[in-house]
Amino acid sequence: MNAASNEERLDGLRAEIAACRICRDAPLRGIEDRLPHEPRPVAVLSSRALVLIAGQAPGLRVHESGLPFDDASGDRLRQWLQVDRPTFYDQDRFAIVPMGFCFPGYDAKGSDLPPRRECAPIWRERVLSAMPQIELVLAVGGYAQAWHMGAARREKMTETVQAWRSTLTVPGKPAILPLPHPSWRNTGWLKRHPWFEEELLPELRRRIKMLVF
Ligand code: SF4
Repeated sequence: MNAASNEERLDGLRAEIAACRICRDAPLRGIEDRLPHEPRPVAVLSSRALVLIAGQAPGLRVHESGLPFDDASGDRLRQWLQVDRPTFYDQDRFAIVPMGFCFPGYDAKGSDLPPRRECAPIWRERVLSAMPQIELVLAVGGYAQAWHMGAARREKMTETVQAWRSTLTVPGKPAILPLPHPSWRNTGWLKRHPWFEEELLPELRRRIKMLVF
């Protein structure tokens, strides 16, 4: 497929995703489980970016702004990548496709609910197959790791991230690099696992320099 027709395909997908109301109108687990607000899918599809950020789901702030990772987690992720906001939001450099495109709402304790289970089975294969140029997937958090890494995912998130060298060097395209979620909730985890900053981040930054700049 040439670049122009692939862009047309992506435009069609973008329009379909923007109009999606499945979790509001026909939720998998019945109407009681419907999305508690109007859907606002947030995903950046790209025909040129070589790096895909596979995140979890938008939080409330992202739901309101429509800009992925427009929050403290995004600031930390950009610091990990060593990129500024204009670079991060340049869709020729990064595709950003979470496991659930809409803010899922809160649970009884006030924490974000998991990504809507309807979303990935409906959209993910189509979106990924429309972006065959992707060379590196950053699998951010357990949900993205489960989808993108299959059997290579270990039982615990820490074990999965700690084994990053083995998943990154599996032959074929794209390479997958597992990351913890950059949420403030993981600040303690980052402190307890200094190898993440000392060993994984330098390799992540080396690859970002190669693929993004
Ligand atoms: S979360 Fe995904 S499947 Fe659900 S309404 Fe939003 S775009 Fe559609």
